[in-house]
Amino acid sequence: MTDLSTRARQILAELGAGDPFAEDGGLVATSPVDGSELGRLVAHTPAAVDATIGGAHAAFEEWRSVPAPVRGHLVRELGELLREHKEVLGELVSIEAGKIRSEGLGEVQEMIDICEFAVGLSRQLHGLTIASERPGHRMMEQWHPLGVVGVISAFNFPVAVWSWNAALALVAGDAVVWKPSEKTLLTALACQALAAEACRRVGAPQALSQVVLGDREVGEVLVDDPRVPLVSATGSTRMGKQVAPRVAARLGRCLLELGGNNAAVVAPSADLDLAVRGIVFSAVGTAGQRCTSLRRVIVHESIHDELVARLSKAYGTLSIGSPLEPSTLVGPLVDTPATEAFLGAVEQAQADGGRLVTGGTRADQMSGAVTGGQYVVPAIVDMPAQTDVVKRETFAPLLYVLTYAELDEAIALHNEVAQGLSSAIFTLDVREAETFLSAAGSDCGIANVNIGTSGAEIGGAFGGEKETGGGRESGSDAWKAYMRRTTNTINYSTELPLAQGVEFQ
Ligand code: NAD
Repeated sequence: MTDLSTRARQILAELGAGDPFAEDGGLVATSPVDGSELGRLVAHTPAAVDATIGGAHAAFEEWRSVPAPVRGHLVRELGELLREHKEVLGELVSIEAGKIRSEGLGEVQEMIDICEFAVGLSRQLHGLTIASERPGHRMMEQWHPLGVVGVISAFNFPVAVWSWNAALALVAGDAVVWKPSEKTLLTALACQALAAEACRRVGAPQALSQVVLGDREVGEVLVDDPRVPLVSATGSTRMGKQVAPRVAARLGRCLLELGGNNAAVVAPSADLDLAVRGIVFSAVGTAGQRCTSLRRVIVHESIHDELVARLSKAYGTLSIGSPLEPSTLVGPLVDTPATEAFLGAVEQAQADGGRLVTGGTRADQMSGAVTGGQYVVPAIVDMPAQTDVVKRETFAPLLYVLTYAELDEAIALHNEVAQGLSSAIFTLDVREAETFLSAAGSDCGIANVNIGTSGAEIGGAFGGEKETGGGRESGSDAWKAYMRRTTNTINYSTELPLAQGVEFQ
């Protein structure tokens, strides 16, 4: 057993997940840190998933009648447990997803934040009172619990995405069945152990929060089951295009959080010190494996050379290596196909006429790589045009640079891709900033000024347009997706007037 495996097992035991391993299990948990096996687990059969959904549905029927502020107690307890165990859960995220320690901890902090938000929300799930056109009548809206929410999540935010969904769903009065990525099984079991403990502490039904393990076939059971009125799926656009038609075929609801191809415009007036810092964090943080990672810089021709030179210099100082080392800024890619996709895209970009400014290779041990892990040197490629490879999402630290002369041209380049998640402009010119944020500006769900594309706070609604899927999670009024709205008309008069003045007697 490797050191990482031993440590992962200690953490699971500490978090109350016991020993979930089975030597003959078909699912292999591995660590991107060094490619080592952490342990084997047994996948859920379709029959087991079916039974899990049944249990969750029964729990929902009980939970929906608990007053929302009381439901908030459960999420408050979950937040407390996360706060208590932040350090070790963050470490497990680093071991299993390869995030640097600070980002592993940041992900758990995001879970705590959404729990706090959801607790406050548990007293604010209110609808409108609406003026009726009829005398002696009143109209109002109520928001009721929806049912079982199926959560399908990606490897790169192995715990936060579940919490964004679960915290809101639980205060909304729903039950949650979670199918985590097959690449991040242990962090899911750790979260589930904490959720189960929170249920125990407040006396909520245990089946309110459950995890099913497996690959896409397990996800498909959730997708097809009519007892799951909402499927919240986070992952690639390829996955979303498979899930959405199946859920639509049974007229269920989907909340899709899919791939991004995020860009930043850098205008002539930009504060370049700030722009360089924002760009580097967004492009190489999490080794470029965030849905909001910055993949394209669209820079004004007058400052192109200076920006590229500064970025190249900053890239030269990045420490690559084990995400568990405190000094590391760039950890590993998740697996071998991810490295192949990175190297292939760098090669294609050069074949399209791009100039490789820096990086673009596997990292060797001299540059910090750990044997067995997939470590690469973050790349910048200066492109003559937005070719097909630039329009694709390559889930790795690969940044393309494009040049523009007029802002309209920059916005057109920006919006030319199929994805629409996050965007930014670096400028000190209020006209440019407001144009970028306007209806004729960025077509993304997230548009920032003078900060990068990644690192969203939980208070805002998170999600994107076009092939990013259109879903919104987390803050603002994203909670409405987890509830059903009823419109009520109440007649307190002795007459029965009909709407629109219709006579019927
Ligand atoms: P992926 O699409 O390979 O897998 C995501 C999840 O979907 C996994 O749990 C997988 O088992 C499941 N799945 C795949 N096909 C399915 C199907 N047909 N039916 C049911 N379930 C299915 O994605 P990944 O490689 O784990 O994650 C990276 C991708 O996720 C990137 O494209 C990234 O941009 C995206 N992502 C988006 C967001 C967002 O909020 N927009 C957040 C994180 C990641």
